[in-house]
Amino acid sequence: MKAGLISLGCAKNLVDSETVLGLLRKNGFEIVNNQKEADLIFINTCGFIQSAKEEAISTIFETLKSKRDNQKVIVIGCFVERYKETLIQEIPEVAGWISISEYQDFAKILSKIVGTPCPINEFDIMNRVVSTPSYWAYVRIADGCDNHCAYCAIPLIRGKYKSRKISEIKKEVEGLVKKGCKEIVLIAQDTTRFGLDTGERIEDLLEDVATIPNLYLLRLLYLYPNDVSDELIQVIKKHPNIAPYFDLPMQHGSNSQLKLMNRRGTKEQCLELLTKIRKGIPNAICRTTVMVGFNQESEQDFTELLDFIKAAHFDRLGLFKFSKEEGTPSYTMSGEITDTKLVAKRYEQVIALQRKIAYQQSKQQIGKEMEAMIIGYNPTNQTYSARSYAFAPDDVDGCIYIHSDKKYPNGTIVKVRITNCMIYDLEGQII
Ligand code: SF4
Repeated sequence: MKAGLISLGCAKNLVDSETVLGLLRKNGFEIVNNQKEADLIFINTCGFIQSAKEEAISTIFETLKSKRDNQKVIVIGCFVERYKETLIQEIPEVAGWISISEYQDFAKILSKIVGTPCPINEFDIMNRVVSTPSYWAYVRIADGCDNHCAYCAIPLIRGKYKSRKISEIKKEVEGLVKKGCKEIVLIAQDTTRFGLDTGERIEDLLEDVATIPNLYLLRLLYLYPNDVSDELIQVIKKHPNIAPYFDLPMQHGSNSQLKLMNRRGTKEQCLELLTKIRKGIPNAICRTTVMVGFNQESEQDFTELLDFIKAAHFDRLGLFKFSKEEGTPSYTMSGEITDTKLVAKRYEQVIALQRKIAYQQSKQQIGKEMEAMIIGYNPTNQTYSARSYAFAPDDVDGCIYIHSDKKYPNGTIVKVRITNCMIYDLEGQII
């Protein structure tokens, strides 16, 4: 039997998708990229915020509409975890639903859906089929979250924070590096919390993994700003193969909004942290994520957010509109902002401000020399795209465009001099 999979949502969900593919392969399924060839089409959904739910629904309906009569659609993941009973009733054309809490019985449930035995019932992250290009991979170091930010459905969907053991993560990275992987991106809902439940520490994990022979670049994403220790900064500084890339989701720049969101820390503490990072590691790249339109966000709060963004001068900034989610404390909180035009206006204001900051930051890169990894090629204008440590993968950030008529396979490390910049992207020459 042939199986294909559509993976929606974040990098953490992609790792689940890869683990499902591993389980399918072990049970004798042939994995195909072309949906038309598949007997079973899996859709791994995200159900985190409204836009993700809408994407899940439209993908399910589009797939059902385009499938052949003898193809089966099976929907899995976060969206199913949240709304399984309703979905079963509303979309009976779907052949099967598997929620995250059922993954331990994935093969058993699957064999009932397809009517053939699936004897190997191990939902084993160590056996995943890595779907990213061979030269980089995500490695999930923990699952779940204990932070309970007031707007966030993740703890409801994925449960309590569960760290993997350093020894297992190290083994996984060693295996990937042996197969030619150059960049490893460590992920979790909150990587600074790693090991609190197992008596291990993120600093020790980085020390252990960074010393794996032939690992070109190690990147750590999603750091809770308040929990970035001096030692963590020192470990990142000490190892030349750990990207000095600090991904610090702040969510807002007004202390009263942060308190309402149940976030630890203040904007002042975040600004102090940025100063410390930049003083210790002058070439550090700092990224954040913020949202607009959270309950009770006043004009004063919004002005504070803009002022915070100006003061912080983040190299990169991700932006969301608040999405009111059932089951989270924010759902019943007073002060909902129902004026969608106001939220849209604030969103545009943040984008406009960050564009200016990003352009200033990008301009400072002109003339600098750096290593970058080739990740794509456009033959029409003979232009490569490449990423240095300063750009996270998966189109999270921009990239460096390089014009060259020489041949460089994807994954090649080149030395580049930056010659020009757009807003988020850079242009360079190979030297
Ligand atoms: S840290 Fe907060 S926003 Fe992030 S996953 Fe945990 S609860 Fe959600």
